[in-house]
Amino acid sequence: MFVTVLYNEKWINNLVDFTNVITLEVSDYCPICASERAVIKKKTVVVNGNLYVIDKWNNPCGHNPNNLEIFIEAQELKKLKNIFLS
Ligand SMILES: [Zn+2]
Repeated sequence: MFVTVLYNEKWINNLVDFTNVITLEVSDYCPICASERAVIKKKTVVVNGNLYVIDKWNNPCGHNPNNLEIFIEAQELKKLKNIFLS
């Protein structure tokens, strides 16, 4: 599934500390227990005076990774896809 979440530019480039939104592909299933993830709801948030529309979901299994964990999961998925599709 594709999710739009807040992330910090410094996760990619250590020199910049700036919040933005990013759309990432992650598994439809929880990486911890393999249960199906919850349905996404759009949510508007304000960070440092800027308005962002993000996705929110509360997994029924109770495992709810933070944005950095989602970001890392998406990077791992991208790496796996590159291995199997190349
Ligand atoms: Zn879970």
